[in-house]
Formats: sequence, C-alpha cells, structure tokens
Amino acid sequence: MPNTSPTEQFENREFQTEVKKLLNIVINSLYTDREIFLRELISNSADALEKIRYESIINKEVAEQDDLPLEISIELDDKENTITVTDTGIGMTREELVENLGTIAHSGSKTFIQQLNESDKKDLNLIGQFGVGFYSAFMVAKKIRVLTRPYLPGEPGCEWVSEGLGSYDVRTADGLPRGTKIILELKEDAHEFAGTARVKEIIRQYSSFVPFPIKVNGEQVNTVQAIWTRNKNEVTEEEYNEFYKFIDTAYDEPLYRLHFSADAPLAINTLLFVPKNNFERFGFGRMKPGTNLYSRKVLIQPHSESILPDWLRFVKGVVDSEDIPLNISRETAQDSALIAKLQKVITGRFLKFLDKESQDDPEKYAGFWDTFGMFIKEGATTDFTYQKDLTRLLRFESSAAEPGKLISLADYAGRMKDEQKEIYFINGPTREAIEAGPYVEAFRAGGYEIIYNYEQIDDFVFSNLGQYEGKKLVSADRAGLELPGLTDKPGEDPLDNEKTGALTAWLKEILGGKVSEVNASSRLVESPAIILNLNPMMTSSMQRVMQAANRDFGDMGGKALEINARHKLIKRLDTLREEDPEFARIVAEQVFDNALISAGLVINPRAMVERINRILEKTL
Ligand code: ADP
Repeated sequence: MPNTSPTEQFENREFQTEVKKLLNIVINSLYTDREIFLRELISNSADALEKIRYESIINKEVAEQDDLPLEISIELDDKENTITVTDTGIGMTREELVENLGTIAHSGSKTFIQQLNESDKKDLNLIGQFGVGFYSAFMVAKKIRVLTRPYLPGEPGCEWVSEGLGSYDVRTADGLPRGTKIILELKEDAHEFAGTARVKEIIRQYSSFVPFPIKVNGEQVNTVQAIWTRNKNEVTEEEYNEFYKFIDTAYDEPLYRLHFSADAPLAINTLLFVPKNNFERFGFGRMKPGTNLYSRKVLIQPHSESILPDWLRFVKGVVDSEDIPLNISRETAQDSALIAKLQKVITGRFLKFLDKESQDDPEKYAGFWDTFGMFIKEGATTDFTYQKDLTRLLRFESSAAEPGKLISLADYAGRMKDEQKEIYFINGPTREAIEAGPYVEAFRAGGYEIIYNYEQIDDFVFSNLGQYEGKKLVSADRAGLELPGLTDKPGEDPLDNEKTGALTAWLKEILGGKVSEVNASSRLVESPAIILNLNPMMTSSMQRVMQAANRDFGDMGGKALEINARHKLIKRLDTLREEDPEFARIVAEQVFDNALISAGLVINPRAMVERINRILEKTL
C-alpha cells in the first residue's frame, strides 16, 4: 500500500444519479473488450502529463518545483491481483476529484448512458469518447483507489476510494508526490490484467504512440514515438520504416510514404503509407481500414472508417488533428462535418500525391497500379466526390502503346486525331484476343487508338465516368459508331445494295429473336460479321458479368449483327441460300455463333459442335 498519512476521516459521498446509472451498467454487464479500461486510464494520464508539460512551459515555477520525469508507470501484482497506474501529471485538487470522479457534466455523456442503458449490445469501447472513460475501470475492478496531488504549491493531496456501488469515500492525504495513482483491485474474473505479458500486449495495441514513456514494472513498453508530429527533415528513413512496420505489422518497407502537416484549414499531422502487398487481391477477404485517427497523439479511432473513404482502406497510417475534440464519439465521427472536411483534405492530398508519383516515376507507379489499381477503380465507380482525381490515376494498355506499357486518359486525349471526338475502348480477356477479334479492325484501318480493358470492372468504370474532358468514352462494340474517314474500304467489291438488303432480311428471319437487327457493316475489314450493342450504356463485357450473376439476364437493349458485304464468306452465303437453303441456314447460324464468340458471349457449345460436323461433312 502506498505511504499516505491521512489527516482526516473519510467523507462518504453519493455519486450523481447519472454516474450511478453508468456504474450500474458497467458493473452488471458482460463485455468482450474489457481491456480498453487500460487505454482509458493511460489516456487520462497522458492528458494530465500534457497539461503539466504545458504548465511548466508557460510557468517556470512549476517546472522548478518538482523535478519529476513525465511518465506513466504501471505496477502489476499477480499475488494481490492489483494493477496500479501512476502518472506524474497535473493531478487533481479535492474539488476536481469530487467533480471529475463523482459527477458527469457533459450532456453528450448523459445521452450516451441513456443509449447504453437501452441497447442490448453494450459497447463500452465508446466510453472514453464520452468523457466518462475512467468509470470503465469498474469492468475489471471490484475496488478502486485514487491518490492524487495537484501541481499547485501548497495544495494537499487526496484519496478517493469506491467499489462503484452508489457512493465513494474521499479524504485529504499528505505525503503524495505530484500526479495521480490509480489502484485497481481486480475482480475474480479479471486477474489476467495483473499479468505482465497481457498488459504489455494491451499497451502495444492501444497506446503505443502515447508520447510519454509507459513503464510496466519498470520496463518501458512503448518504444514507438509520435513521429508524425515531427518535422519531416528530422525523421530518418529508418524511423519511418520502423514505424510503418509497427503499424502494419509488416516485415518489409512500404511502397509509398506521404508525410504532411497543415495548419489551415485544419491542423493536421498525417503520415500515410502504401504497403507493397495487397492481401485482399489474394483472397484474404476485405481489409479493415488501415488508418488510425488521433487527436493530439491520443488514439481516437483505430482503423477509422471515417477518416478516409472505404476504397482507400489499403492505406496505412496516422491522421492526427488537434481540431478533433478528444471526446468525439464514433457515431459523431462518422457524420461530423469536421471529420468530413478532414477526409476531403487528406484524400485530396493523397490522390494528388499519387498523381505526382505517377508522373515522376511511371515505372514504380505501374507496380502500384498492378497491385492497388482495383481500389482506384472501386473509387472511380462508387465515389463521385473524388472522381476527377481518380480519373487521372487510371492506367490502361492501348493499341498505340507496346504490350505492358500503360497510358492514361490524358495520354490518349493528347494524341487524338483532329476530327476524332470520342475516346474508344474495348474489353477482352487479353491483348492477343482483342487484336485478333473483329472489334479493332476499323480502328486499325483508320489509325485510331483504342484502349484495351482486360478486367470486367473496367467497363463499369468507363460507363460511370461517361466522358473525359468532354470526350465521350465509347465502347468499340457499340452499334452505329461513326469513325471519320472510314468509308473507303480495301478489298473486293461488295454485294450490291439490293442483294445485301435481301441477305440481311433473310438472316434476321433465320436468327429470329436472337438479334434485334441485322445490318450491313461499314466498319468490318477482315471479319465476316460482328455483334454490336444497340444500348450505348451496355458493353458485351458488362453483359457477361450480369449473365454470370443471373442466368436469365436478357441482352439489355438488344444486339445487332452486322455483316461484311465485301467478305467472300458473306458473298458465298448469298448464293448458297438460293442453291441449298438448308445448308445456308446452318452456315448462317455458325457465322452468328462465331460473332458471339468474338464478343465473348455465351453460346451453346453442343449445338455448335453438331453444326460444325455437318459443315465439315459437306466440305470433305
Ligand atoms: P475524460 O478523461 O474523457 O474527460 P474520464 O471519466 O476518464 O473522462 O475522466 C474525467 C476527468 O477526470 C478527466 O477529464 C480529468 O480531468 C480527470 N482525470 C482522470 N484521470 C486523471 C489523471 N490521471 N490525472 C489527472 N486528472 C485526471
């Protein structure tokens, strides 16, 4: 027991009604995250140390009067089953003690208690954010003693004792050093919190960045400094990397690092990292957000869901803003205007940073894109707020760049032909498949660049963006494309208009409901036929995704079959339908299936094999 010489008898005082209510909930409910009580006590101690640090900065006398190191000591006794948290902070006067640990002033805390009382799932994790964190210690303690002496010269110390049952005892106590000592007598089922390993683990999890030494039985536990608050020039590469490894429990170095501070419009110290790996891509499930929200170096929200948009969940780091009140609640944090403003500033800054990196070191950025591009695409399809910045970060392969080289929409727009008004793209499984297919023929012939999309989400991204700097993003499998200068085609003479008209009508009849239109094509060069989408909002790739999700999914706005009236096969088909109508029909169906295959759409393989066998029979 600590040395105190009581100068008076204990005075017994009732807790305020709200406190009684809160303690009743704390003591009589079961909690899973009980260890958070330690975070709360350490956080209070850190606050008290911050205050004395400030006082001694502005008041020399305070600095001189007690020469104590600013630190938090935690003493564990696994025989007596006690945990004692001591700080050399600002301490409390008797009035403050009675006020702080006997009443609740904030109206927000009262609402919190009310809600806690009514909810079935009681989550005390929020308690600290309502300015009543101290009381969470009663989750684990059957009795709490507080010994405190304020920094003011001549002020006596004080002792406070309670079992949390309606009242507490308080009396003056001499002989105490400056600061506060809180002794918890642990409940039967909470003896784990007298164990060194357990307590160290809790401190590492919740309080590592507390800017004062935390000692457990004399040994300092928190080695990591609040390096995000330091000047960039003063932090070494090694320190950054150590810090990164700590927060991401990573073993390697980060890919990118962004450290910035701002005073206006908000006071922010931010240190963000992009890791090298993306485990979500490897099927490890959805990541938790990787950014922790601090206010004045005190952890407000680990894995904050509000400080960065969800699609930046791969970013690891710290956002610290002293403009955020320490007692902000998680719910408030979610929709507070302040947090929204903070999110906007930091997200904007981070996206600008990525943009600059992509210009300065395109090769490194290509690596980033390969690993984390999916998140940028997710943002571009779901978040309108940052769409413009995200658009700048998108990368693609294209017909004008060699395989493996990436281009941006700005690159494309910068080299468009004078008469070209739209940006073209096509989706396919690989570059080879796309280039062998019918969709790029017209573009190749006319010298138009075309963007290659290999992933299904890509078409949704483009469909969402709609345009880039006023230029429409158009899928090459869309019907009715007008490519300037593509009227003169090489090759043989086409069927005349009359024959072509009759052939398309015949094909429409044969194919029935499978297509909405059959037309003569103005874009085909080498292929006999092509499938196009009549709905400008739909690409074949998007349709594939929807068909995979729902077998009955229709073709959304219809398909057109276009035929190449110069192609030998089409011309021969025209004569064949007079000579051998039944065989012509089989060939027509196969031409259609071939076009579907080129579009990557679903066909009936069994029927096709049968048909091909009949065609082979005929030719052999
Ligand atoms: P909060 O810290 O969120 O305000 P608490 O219930 O945890 O709510 O604490 C109430 C108040 O008690 C604190 O605001 C602080 O003034 C005082 N207090 C708690 N712990 C300490 C401490 N270790 N040193 C000095 N004051 C403390």
